Amino acid sequence: MQPFIPTERTQVRRLPERARYDRETVHAILDEGLIAHIGFVSGDQPFVIPTTYVRVDDVLYLHGSPASRMLRTLEKSVSVCATVTLLDGLVLARSAFHHSMNYRSVVVLGDAREVDDSAEKLRVFDALVEHIVPGRSADARPANDFELQFTKLLALPLNEASVKLRSGPPNDDAEDMSHPAWAGVIPLSLRASAPIGDGLGASTLAAPPYATGYARSPDAGGEGP
Ligand SMILES: Cc1cc2nc3c(=O)[nH]c(=O)nc-3n(C[C@H](O)[C@H](O)[C@H](O)COP(=O)(O)OP(=O)(O)OC[C@H]3O[C@@H](n4cnc5c(N)ncnc54)[C@H](O)[C@@H]3O)c2cc1C
Repeated sequence: MQPFIPTERTQVRRLPERARYDRETVHAILDEGLIAHIGFVSGDQPFVIPTTYVRVDDVLYLHGSPASRMLRTLEKSVSVCATVTLLDGLVLARSAFHHSMNYRSVVVLGDAREVDDSAEKLRVFDALVEHIVPGRSADARPANDFELQFTKLLALPLNEASVKLRSGPPNDDAEDMSHPAWAGVIPLSLRASAPIGDGLGASTLAAPPYATGYARSPDAGGEGP
């Protein structure tokens, strides 16, 4: 896969050694994340709105009510900034100054277009369900014509994107190494607890494996069997 070319707008300037532009890393972060923060300007007011999304190939899809200000603004080809952040740990250094976080984040810049084609919408809605809960689209009732018509779908092509990430232990200054404070990393990850059925209909049966074993990343297993 061709890497993203850093542009004037996506060139990471501070700590550039933490930058990545390869598509594999961009895709992996987008695929593990659940929430994107979508920045745009409406009138003279900037907004940053949290939303779900899914990546399919080199497109980030956003969806919601046709009444959504975010979607109504973005469909007019207003410039958008989509950010997805995964928090991997808290970095405790010996000095307060060198405390940090381990993270992986993606910033995507571009213009979105509305998707009208019903077949593409259906495919993307299935992909969205699969992105959030892999295996769920086979069980859930697919969107009907009314739901398709009254759900707006926008496509943001992944043309201009950057990754910044940090991993590993703290970077203390040499003169602080004898300071008597514990230093290291508190790993953080998104973990699922045991699923809670709503107790109605088929939910009186056992929860499916994709619910009991839900994990967002390989090292963050659910509380399932
Ligand atoms: C985890 C998560 C997933 C979501 N997924 C989607 C999605 O897939 N599609 C979708 O359309 N929406 C999603 N939302 C809701 C989204 O954040 C907005 O609330 C929604 O799009 C607002 O639409 P609106 O046009 O009515 O609000 P706007 O007119 O844009 O908002 C008016 C004002 O309401 C307040 N506001 C709006 N949203 C929020 C918020 N989330 N938190 C705090 N204040 C807020 C702000 O002050 C804002 O200026 C999600 C929210 C969360 C937290």
